[in-house]
Amino acid sequence: MSDTPETRGYKRIATEEAWLTPELLQRYVQILDSGATNDPGFHSLWGFFGKSQTPRARDLYERIQDMDARRLADMDAAGIDMQLLLLSAPGVQVFEAGLATSLAASSNDQLAETIRRHPTRFQGLAAFAPQDPQSAAKEIERGVTRLGLKGAVVNSHTQGEYLDDEKYYDIFAACEALDVPLYIHPNSMSPQMVEPFLPRCLDAAIYGFAAETGLHALRLIVGGVFDRFPNLKVVLGHLGEGLPFWPYRIDFMHAGIVRSNRSPGAQALQKKPSEYLRDNFYYTTSGMPWEPSISLVQRLFGHDKVMYAMDYPYQYLKEEVDMMDNLPITTEQKKMFFQGNAERIFRL
Ligand code: MN
Repeated sequence: MSDTPETRGYKRIATEEAWLTPELLQRYVQILDSGATNDPGFHSLWGFFGKSQTPRARDLYERIQDMDARRLADMDAAGIDMQLLLLSAPGVQVFEAGLATSLAASSNDQLAETIRRHPTRFQGLAAFAPQDPQSAAKEIERGVTRLGLKGAVVNSHTQGEYLDDEKYYDIFAACEALDVPLYIHPNSMSPQMVEPFLPRCLDAAIYGFAAETGLHALRLIVGGVFDRFPNLKVVLGHLGEGLPFWPYRIDFMHAGIVRSNRSPGAQALQKKPSEYLRDNFYYTTSGMPWEPSISLVQRLFGHDKVMYAMDYPYQYLKEEVDMMDNLPITTEQKKMFFQGNAERIFRL
């Protein structure tokens, strides 16, 4: 790339970029080999990326754990100035609580070390283990206040459980008190959902991730999480996992469900569901570099709510930034999209 942030007028910050430690990768393969889990979504995802000898799988396996020369060269080749790093799915969420808690801490320490080596190229979010919510809240606080991480990341469900259960509220309380966002990134689909997706290979990034993660976000909304934590900020990738196409019908049907008192799990909220999508959520374009969808989300929720992301190394496309540089928006809006929103929301 011959242009620079100075000549183009903005930095390109990619806000949902994946990494994993070599130890976690080895442990995923061990779990697969030992038969320690029969989670079909995990087998589908890491059976491929962890064990397949195809070039696509080996390439991903190498790139996702490289935190130096190769990753920086890829960023330079694609015109990315900075990556915000998120521990990739399933993170530590497939392990038992004690092991998961210690792996989250060691991963965050390694991430902080990577950022210290390249502070202008990398920033990152703190991983945590929802399996032990109180320790998770402490790890988020340690990650932000001691390690300088910029928020927290969870890879959607944890062994089939969703964060709208009150037992997880310490996690939201920590993010709200620290005033940092929680990024809800996809995981492989939960065991309860995945089966009908598997025969046609629809369980992963092609569609299943969005169905499962969108469900997770909606559960938080109708479960009243944002009435309890009104200043909680949640970031969704993939332009909101499909939800920005749905606001009218979700609002319409939710009002009817509440009126008819259909379920104790779907009670009246202080606002319409779509108002939480507007007020508490932020959106990144990971894997969705397509103008009609990006414009929809910008129009619905504002140019200050949508950030650029590439989803490296899963969807590493060198030509992507050219497509995004050509979005039909003003220079000022483009600077918000690539740089300003990320700097404000993650306080980079
Ligand atoms: Mn991703």
